[in-house]
Amino acid sequence: MPEVICQKWEESESEPGWGVTVRSDGYTLKDQALKAAHVGVGKSYLGPQEAPTPEERGVPAWTGTPEEAAKIIRAAMRHFGAATVGFIELDDNTRKLIYGVDPDGKELIFTDEEVASETEEARYIPNKCKYAIVYTVQMSQETMRRSPTQLGSQTTSLAYTRGEVIQASAQEFLRGLGYQCLGESSTNALGIAPALAVMAGLGELSRLNRLITPEYGPMVRVFKLLTDLPVATDKPIDAGIMEFCKRCKKCAEACPSESLSFLDEPSWD
Ligand code: SF4
Repeated sequence: MPEVICQKWEESESEPGWGVTVRSDGYTLKDQALKAAHVGVGKSYLGPQEAPTPEERGVPAWTGTPEEAAKIIRAAMRHFGAATVGFIELDDNTRKLIYGVDPDGKELIFTDEEVASETEEARYIPNKCKYAIVYTVQMSQETMRRSPTQLGSQTTSLAYTRGEVIQASAQEFLRGLGYQCLGESSTNALGIAPALAVMAGLGELSRLNRLITPEYGPMVRVFKLLTDLPVATDKPIDAGIMEFCKRCKKCAEACPSESLSFLDEPSWD
């Protein structure tokens, strides 16, 4: 017999009309407890800034080749919980993937200043912080299948919470090496995640309009950071995903609102 509860919880834009009700299968007390259990550490552009710097330790900053830098950052971030990690260097084109304005209304401004800073109106990105670190966090397919229940939606919120912890840890790790690491000031801030992930070789865009990775399919969330530590960069990949999408079209057939394209080739229309 399913566990049935009767509980009042607040209505929200994404969950309209869920006032006093009786539900089961994805809405039980267990499911709501699971959703409420995710605890993050907060997000900020400049990071926690608590880890001792090399200067504070009285030693020089870490140095190594760009290949070594990419290797240790990837290893550290996978240790922190990232599923996959890729790197790109921002040029005139890829810099367009960084937002001009963050979700909270603050401008993102590239500057010749050496050190990143933040005011009430803007976040300043030193031009030298031209290396983007893009990472994914895997999500559970098993709980996502329970969408749109509480059990399903907690899949997403858990991934965002994990991304938050990984961001703060990466910012402190790079600070500890003697470098800057600029993060998302809030969820989905700083830049266009799927596009940066494609450029960093983490997967391909798909008919689903989501990143699909060779390892985890679309069951990931994507995050990004900027650093001034020169890293070896990655290239976009061809894993046959977009080619498969041209023939598959299952998501478009299943989409209740007919929002997904049936065109064989990608289009701007
Ligand atoms: S077309 Fe097929 S493979 Fe491509 S996103 Fe849709 S369901 Fe997945």
